[in-house]
Amino acid sequence: MSSTPAHNGITAEDERQILEAINKFLDRDVRPYAMALEHADEYPVDMVEGMKALGLFGAIIPQQYGGLGLPTTTYAKIVETVSEVWMSLSGIFNSHLIMASAVIRHGTEEQKREWLPKFATGEIRGGLALTEPNCGTDLQAIRTVAKRDGDHYVVNGTKTWISNGIHGTVFALLVKTDPEKQPRHAGTSLFLAEKGEGFSVSRKLEKLGYKGIDSAELVFNDFKIHSDRLIGGQEGLGLRHALGGLELGRINVAARGVGVASAAMKEAVKYSQQRETFGKPISQHQAIQIKLADMATNVEAARHLTRAAAEAFDRGERCDMEAGMAKLFATEAALTNSMESMRVHGGYGYSKEFPVERFYRDAPLLTIGEGTNELQKILIARQLIERNPI
Ligand SMILES: Cc1cc2nc3c(=O)[nH]c(=O)nc-3n(C[C@H](O)[C@H](O)[C@H](O)COP(=O)(O)OP(=O)(O)OC[C@H]3O[C@@H](n4cnc5c(N)ncnc54)[C@H](O)[C@@H]3O)c2cc1C
Repeated sequence: MSSTPAHNGITAEDERQILEAINKFLDRDVRPYAMALEHADEYPVDMVEGMKALGLFGAIIPQQYGGLGLPTTTYAKIVETVSEVWMSLSGIFNSHLIMASAVIRHGTEEQKREWLPKFATGEIRGGLALTEPNCGTDLQAIRTVAKRDGDHYVVNGTKTWISNGIHGTVFALLVKTDPEKQPRHAGTSLFLAEKGEGFSVSRKLEKLGYKGIDSAELVFNDFKIHSDRLIGGQEGLGLRHALGGLELGRINVAARGVGVASAAMKEAVKYSQQRETFGKPISQHQAIQIKLADMATNVEAARHLTRAAAEAFDRGERCDMEAGMAKLFATEAALTNSMESMRVHGGYGYSKEFPVERFYRDAPLLTIGEGTNELQKILIARQLIERNPI
């Protein structure tokens, strides 16, 4: 096996060993139990312990702060591999790492030293709290306000749809520190908010899919937060800090899309060789073969776009267009493949005894989270014009 150096001192052999360990964990501790937990919408406590032991909560946290320091290319392969078995599991560490990445990129040295080692072990877990009942895409319209009071801020407002909202304890919280400021984004700030008096979970949200992971509404009622929790120590940069993490977030979601699209395709390939109609396996009917070919092509194209975006991210290049394209294509591929796989399965595709119905319920979320696919198209077009002036 080659030991070609990769990013951050991680070699190709290191990457192979990491993926092998994850595959063993998935086969032994996830695959046999995922369907029952998913149908019961039960938080996978033991699996989270397994992911902690594998270091997944510190996958992209630099080694000097106790993480694995993996490049995004390796991380994307991990997300794909986990999502192929159960997408919700990847959400548990993805959301946590998007929060961590705000600290990695924008935190002060003290904040990095205080928080990152605890994030890396999974001892403290959390996520990203941006969306509010009145806005998701238009984040400049948020109404949660943090008002300065000596060396503290007092926070009031509501966040909704927050992944890890119940089982997580710390969240990168987007607020308005100056609600009147124009342009609106200049009045925003990003804090690391830890649950305590004045910060509570008001309810768990029920969903079509993406079960097992908790999505919750968080309420801040005169919640006092110390000014040393302001990420980067400077007001007015909140939206910039939060959205900067979304490039990585979009690569994450694209990798999830590849995983779901691939799982749907593999189930279709397997089932079509088992099921017979008119005296032969359905895989011998051209109508089915065309579906399999389209699904497989979707997976490969999605995987290539995702890798290209991850490589650009690792090189430190601006890659909002690449990440947007990967996110758009891979998540639409997941949606298409889950539907096509269901059709290949006939009536059984609609049954809870086969995993295809889960892919079909999980896939639509990918087109919404980390910026809807409609928004991705707008961002791609803007970049296209900006990069090609006449
Ligand atoms: C299961 C789940 C988990 C989530 N996890 C998190 C989380 O951990 N943290 C978090 O902060 N949020 C989370 N979200 C929220 C998610 O990020 C938002 O739902 C998403 O950003 C869309 O926002 P919205 O729902 O307010 O839709 P809206 O912004 O109201 O959009 C509605 C529709 O209008 C379209 N639209 C909006 N603006 C434009 C425009 N300018 N041009 C064209 N079309 C437009 C959108 O594409 C969409 O089709 C989660 C959501 C779900 C369902």
